[in-house]
Amino acid sequence: MERDQFIAVPKNTIAVLQKHGFQFKKQLGQNFLIDMHVLDKIIRAADIGPGDICLEIGPGIGSLTQALCEATVDDGRVYAVEIDDRLIPILEENLAAYPHVHIIHTDFMKIDLPSFFEEEKIDRPVKVVANLPYYITTPIIMALFESGVPLASVTVMVQEEVARRMQAKPGTKDYGALSLAVQYYAEPYIAAHVPPNCFMPRPNVGSAVIRLTRRPQPPVEVQDEKLMFKLIRAAFGQRRKTLVNAVTGSPELGGTIRIVNGQKENGETEVRTLQITKELITQALEEAGISQTIRGEALSLQQFAELTNVLAKQADH
Ligand code: SAM
Repeated sequence: MERDQFIAVPKNTIAVLQKHGFQFKKQLGQNFLIDMHVLDKIIRAADIGPGDICLEIGPGIGSLTQALCEATVDDGRVYAVEIDDRLIPILEENLAAYPHVHIIHTDFMKIDLPSFFEEEKIDRPVKVVANLPYYITTPIIMALFESGVPLASVTVMVQEEVARRMQAKPGTKDYGALSLAVQYYAEPYIAAHVPPNCFMPRPNVGSAVIRLTRRPQPPVEVQDEKLMFKLIRAAFGQRRKTLVNAVTGSPELGGTIRIVNGQKENGETEVRTLQITKELITQALEEAGISQTIRGEALSLQQFAELTNVLAKQADH
């Protein structure tokens, strides 16, 4: 297709909006991409080619969807999930030339991803590509990874500051629960910085395209993932406190917690409880070889995993 025919060309986007009398809904994070160079960068960063299966969250008027359809040609598949009913007829019209696109009208957060993958007989790792609605960036990314469905990569436009947090290393100001969660599942790489004038309407903040390449295995061995993420949330819930104080003072962790230790011989799930006290955390830190006065923001993923494993072991006694 000729480049000047793409929806993402500003005059074509304006023509679509005018034809349908479309008014943006700010609360749905509607900022449409109007820059062909950025579009090229996304397709390149996501490494989209013939035969790929793509999943897009929030196709808008189809600017990115069209580029995905062109890159995957007929052999691939493009699933585009849009919440706004006003956009469905526009998408159907704009993407009528592509038989391999599936427009799905729903709230992405309501999709049961494992059932969806099964129903659609998705037999290859999927490449997620999206210019995300910024108000639900983190829930979308966590839902994708935590669902356990086969993903090759997640290449998304997010707020610049969120991209920095996803990539941040221990001890930096951007490091937090999101950095650890993303880095547990994927390897992040910022592929492009995108200024506000590449969107219509312009957002108030800078954006970035980040590629999260799914790891085949988590980089650390952890006995109880849920407990580790509870510890991480507690540590960053009060990030200026020492880890000992943040954890014992956390509403989610202070007191008694349940640790699931797997299956008993009779098939029942074995659940043990653990009393989270200052003494226990202090002792666990010592056993894991970590300083007693450390703050959560200085702990690496490896150290959170070690601490979790020591605590999970305690629950056995
Ligand atoms: N992909 C288009 C583009 O790049 O021009 C539009 C991107 S715009 C930043 C975000 C899109 O996500 C909007 O079309 C909005 O209606 C849609 N959206 C917002 N919340 C959603 C949700 N929960 N599920 C599915 N789509 C959603």
